[in-house]
Amino acid sequence: MQALIDHARSFHHHAAERREEFSRLADGQRPQALFITCSDSRVIPSMITGARPGELFELRTAGQSVPPYRALRPSGEAATIEYAVQVLGIRDIVVCGHSHCGAVRARIDGTPLGHAPAVRDWLRRAVQPGLPDRGDPHLAEAVQRHVLTQLDKLRRYPCIRARAGNGELRLHGWFYDLPTGRVLAHQPRPDSFLPL
Ligand SMILES: [Zn+2]
Repeated sequence: MQALIDHARSFHHHAAERREEFSRLADGQRPQALFITCSDSRVIPSMITGARPGELFELRTAGQSVPPYRALRPSGEAATIEYAVQVLGIRDIVVCGHSHCGAVRARIDGTPLGHAPAVRDWLRRAVQPGLPDRGDPHLAEAVQRHVLTQLDKLRRYPCIRARAGNGELRLHGWFYDLPTGRVLAHQPRPDSFLPL
């Protein structure tokens, strides 16, 4: 942790080197996309996309999951999504799953999570089991299916439904491979994940 503290302590020196860029951030944000991905520390959206500060609005959850929309049960995730679309006017939403995802693996393997009941209940609700087999090739496929399920849930959000229907808002399903850094994107035809 100390290294992180030391870096944060001196970060303003880096900001000072890019004074013009950083001072503009005080005027507001106009991010290019909402990027929904896993909380996993190995997935760094700005590194993958090359986004500068202010360019990516992020939502990170265990297993890059979004809850189903329920008007009477507000959630931090739904609020973040609605803010991105309604307030910031975002036109692109990326749901990015990743290889070696512990959250999706736990759901597939049925890992006992009695000591972490919030994780257990979140995954039970948000991650549908993909395939019964274990192993990384199967896990990758399960994560990709899981990404598509999140896109389906997003399409039912009132703020997204109309805009996605008339092409004002685009939804993207991505899969990030940790060891190679390769990014795949879902293509409706032939309904598979292919290199970007
Ligand atoms: Zn993950």
